[in-house]
Amino acid sequence: MHITNTPFETPVAPPDQRRHSANEVAAWNNALSGAGPTDVIRWAVDEFGNRICVTASFADTLLIDFATKVDPDMEVVFIDTGFHFPETLRTVKRAMVRYALNLTVLRPAATSADLWAHGIDTCCGTRKIAPLERHLIANADAWMSGLRRDDSTERATTPVISLDRRGLVKVNPLAAWSAEELNEYAAANDVLVNPLSFEGYPSIGCWPCTTPTDPSDTDKRAGRWAGSTKTECGIH
Ligand code: SF4
Repeated sequence: MHITNTPFETPVAPPDQRRHSANEVAAWNNALSGAGPTDVIRWAVDEFGNRICVTASFADTLLIDFATKVDPDMEVVFIDTGFHFPETLRTVKRAMVRYALNLTVLRPAATSADLWAHGIDTCCGTRKIAPLERHLIANADAWMSGLRRDDSTERATTPVISLDRRGLVKVNPLAAWSAEELNEYAAANDVLVNPLSFEGYPSIGCWPCTTPTDPSDTDKRAGRWAGSTKTECGIH
């Protein structure tokens, strides 16, 4: 396991130019149209080798399960903001044992901004965005996340492959999968699930910014930054 501390307000140097074009991305999406998560991940590993990683929030280990079956050495990146629920940190530890993870933990400096003194955007910026950005720009050409179209209305058009604002290739192998398909896979493969998922938290972030939601709420992310207009932390 690798742990990296990031100083407060560390500048991020964007890459000079995009390494891949929009045309390439469109061709990749066409070629992978209808492909399942395993085929998407296999393609990504063939294309980017060890210059691709998985980011994980440890609400469950679905994407980790898929990815480590394709490449057991896949780097898994966890952003430890300092504000995670104990249940999430325990899920990280269980996953380390279960999958023998090649885990990188990114941590902000102890003096980093917090939401109470600096607001939620600055807090996310220094505790999540900056550490991830520095890591990705230094180490990756592409990264994967577990974004899905039925997570929320904001994510309804999530592509399987895109270029992110850093010029890196973003791969979302689960984008087109429904909750039913994933639940079936999770049960059949004994995927680890954060216990908060069974206690009214369909989406799990930092404890100051995550509340349980009504089971009838179709927006699975309604409990994130509830009461504010913020819907995403900004890493995607
Ligand atoms: S989710 Fe909340 S506590 Fe976590 S980094 Fe963002 S603002 Fe800070």
